Amino acid sequence: MKKRLLSLLLLLTVLTTFLPTTNVKAAESLAKPTVSIETTKSNNPKLSWNEVSDADGYRVFRKTSTDKKYVKVTTTSKLTYTDSKWKATAGTTVKYYVKAYYKDDNGKTVWSKQSTVKKWTVPSKKVEVGDAGKIAPDNKNSKNDTYYILNTHTMKYHLPTCKDVPKIKKENYAKSTDSKKELESKGYAGCKHCNP
Ligand SMILES: [Zn+2]
Repeated sequence: MKKRLLSLLLLLTVLTTFLPTTNVKAAESLAKPTVSIETTKSNNPKLSWNEVSDADGYRVFRKTSTDKKYVKVTTTSKLTYTDSKWKATAGTTVKYYVKAYYKDDNGKTVWSKQSTVKKWTVPSKKVEVGDAGKIAPDNKNSKNDTYYILNTHTMKYHLPTCKDVPKIKKENYAKSTDSKKELESKGYAGCKHCNP
């Protein structure tokens, strides 16, 4: 009698020990992806990451300096993503991370840990310095025909005719058809010389 009880206990122990491991996949964890970012010709960030084994896909998260928290950008099965659906001021930093995932046998999504956060600085738009001082008639979408010249380093905006404009270094020079209000909301201040 005692022996039978013992073997019953043994059976129970064996069952409780091995049953949970039958759901092997749910217990598996994914490696986190390693992300790198390059800048495309159109000045957008192109993220790429390594293939994580067993992953079904990847989700990209982004946080600009004005976002309070990270937002979902895309879910993809590819290993690269060029982010063109964002707004941020030149010179500010955008942060990204990527998570890998797979769907387990029960259809549940299992996530990897987030990748290391990668920072990317928004470059200023490349413009030809030679057309400073002229009024731009080419931008049909602008609210008016004028534009401002930005110094992305000092965060000042100028009239194109301002005597300070030719002194702006090429790497800090940008042209903007934003309104004064829009520029000021992005942290720019009007130049004291030309009073734009
Ligand atoms: Zn000025």
